[in-house]
Amino acid sequence: MTAPSARAGAGRDDVLIELRGVSKGYWRGRQLVPVLSDITFDIRRAEFLALMGPSGSGKSTLLNLIAGLDHPDHGSIEVEGEDIAQLGEVDLADWRAANVGFIFQFYNLMPVLSALENVELPLTLTSLGRRERRDRAQLALRLVGLGDREKHLPSELSGGQQQRVAIARAIVTDPTLLVADEPTGDLDRRSAEEALAIMQRLNEEMGKTIVMVTHDRRAAEHAKVIMHLEKGELSGRVEQRHG
Ligand code: ADP
Ligand code: MG
Repeated sequence: MTAPSARAGAGRDDVLIELRGVSKGYWRGRQLVPVLSDITFDIRRAEFLALMGPSGSGKSTLLNLIAGLDHPDHGSIEVEGEDIAQLGEVDLADWRAANVGFIFQFYNLMPVLSALENVELPLTLTSLGRRERRDRAQLALRLVGLGDREKHLPSELSGGQQQRVAIARAIVTDPTLLVADEPTGDLDRRSAEEALAIMQRLNEEMGKTIVMVTHDRRAAEHAKVIMHLEKGELSGRVEQRHG
């Protein structure tokens, strides 16, 4: 353990992810179309960050870099001192499996697997025994309020319930970081509020660091901090107070 920083504000120990000079573009024919240009910011431990911005502004691109799904063209992304931008595909995949839980707009559940089997899936990549995997998956399902839906197939669940199964799947490996790309984009208001309340609890009670992309202002209200992405550039942090 290192001593806490004496400086005011966020000390280094409070920072989970440091992005420095991150740029990313996509090739269109022979032209590199810039999407993110020289992005520099920190994500603190146990932060719940909402990334907002117009469609096409690069929110998903940025989220995918933070989650280690893609490499930046330039810059570094240090997570607990390790620059994930420098990792090769295999190491990056291992890093993701150990550290990141994913929540998508359309849930991405396996249609032929039950709710419990879907939640258990990320654990089949670990060395845990069958019994332990089952116990953890059951616990995660109970945490999202679906302990009584273990045997249901995704098609037998509402959209809101499917997203809660997806949240359980995202946390079953106990990752440090949760990333969510428009998690409420396909949900009605009530289901959206339920999913957001669960994410808020995971943040506040279990200390999960969450980065959520959304263009829904009401969804962003659940986060602790809001940042805006526009024309490849990120604007300052707006801290939120919850009642
Ligand atoms: P957002 O999530 O804010 O809507 P994206 O990050 O998905 O924005 O996309 C930003 C820009 O990058 C868009 O112009 C999009 O067309 C382009 N883009 C995203 N992914 C790719 C890709 N894999 N190949 C080429 N262009 C892409
Ligand atoms: Mg997107």
